[in-house]
Amino acid sequence: MQTNLEDERYIVFLRYGVWAALAAHILFGLFFLVLGSDLLAAFNLLSVAVFAGCAWLVAHRHTTAAILLAATEVTVHAWLAVWVLGWNSGFHYYIITLMMLSAFHPHWPARGKAVYSLLVCVAYLVLNQWSLMREAEIEISAITLDVVRWFNTAFTFGFVAYLAHYYAKAAREAESKLELMASTDTLTGLYTRRQMLAVFDQEQSKQRRHLRPLTIIMVDIDNFKKLNDQFGHECGDDALKAIADCFRQALRIQDHVARWGGEEFLILLPETNMKDAQNIAEKVRELASLSPISSCSEDLRLSITASVGELLAYENFDTCLARIDQGLLAGKRAGKNRVVLV
Ligand code: GH3
Ligand code: MG
Ligand code: MG
Repeated sequence: MQTNLEDERYIVFLRYGVWAALAAHILFGLFFLVLGSDLLAAFNLLSVAVFAGCAWLVAHRHTTAAILLAATEVTVHAWLAVWVLGWNSGFHYYIITLMMLSAFHPHWPARGKAVYSLLVCVAYLVLNQWSLMREAEIEISAITLDVVRWFNTAFTFGFVAYLAHYYAKAAREAESKLELMASTDTLTGLYTRRQMLAVFDQEQSKQRRHLRPLTIIMVDIDNFKKLNDQFGHECGDDALKAIADCFRQALRIQDHVARWGGEEFLILLPETNMKDAQNIAEKVRELASLSPISSCSEDLRLSITASVGELLAYENFDTCLARIDQGLLAGKRAGKNRVVLV
């Protein structure tokens, strides 16, 4: 899935790159015609044909062939333009942009990218050294040369900026997707245990700073194994989703709930005393008993056992949870379908 996304992103980038190259070459072809350099104008016509070929290759997903063809064209073209107009024309900048083509390729091995980058670097250095030793073939006015260099500089800067922005955005998107995956349980949409631990740390420091109560409810579905055995695993999954909906109905915006284990849930209630927490637990129990799981059986009703405890001052999470866990066990032993206070 990730690889497909990466492939798509690279294809889109290549497509835009090819269009930009086509547009630039058409512009330059006209410019060289005006300038009277038939050789460069003719080469530009050839370049347009080459980039049309690249567009075809990209459309048919031959990315490696497309970038090798584009890289060859850009290098030869930069060499030719620098030979005719001199280093100050700025056509050499285009060689630098070739580094980007391989850097973001989703499948090239690191060694292949290194060899490609080295070749690009050598092409640039040799062109630089060679052009320093000789004069331009065509003398053009200083202002025309300036305009050409400005255009080439702006074009290459724009290309690099676009690419950096495009890939930074992609990286941010991938990061938030991963974050969401790590913090949300896929079946129920509730927090994962890991996310709840992070939330608990924040809530505990608030509780200590403002000396406000913080209560925890542990909820366990009764006889869930039996339900699975009787109606199947899919029905069990539907029951878990139904319980998650009960939490959404019973809890307030500031409350947190996580799927703590298979059919165990943990609720964190900031600024809530035991009495209010008990009421919330009873509300969840009532909603669960009323919620039909029609995929299992029309008259199947869920029951839950809940244990409610307050985090005592300077009590740590594990100790508090162990206390609440004992309460849950007591509730199960006492016949289930009840709320226990610890
Ligand atoms: P008790 O009333 O004492 O809590 O008994 P129980 O049967 O609910 O508890 P037990 O711990 O014996 O069994 C829990 C079952 O939950 C066993 C496991 O197969 C099931 N389970 C855990 N995760 C999932 C899940 O994601 N989907 C489904 N369908 N079942 C699950
Ligand atoms: Mg259970
Ligand atoms: Mg359990």
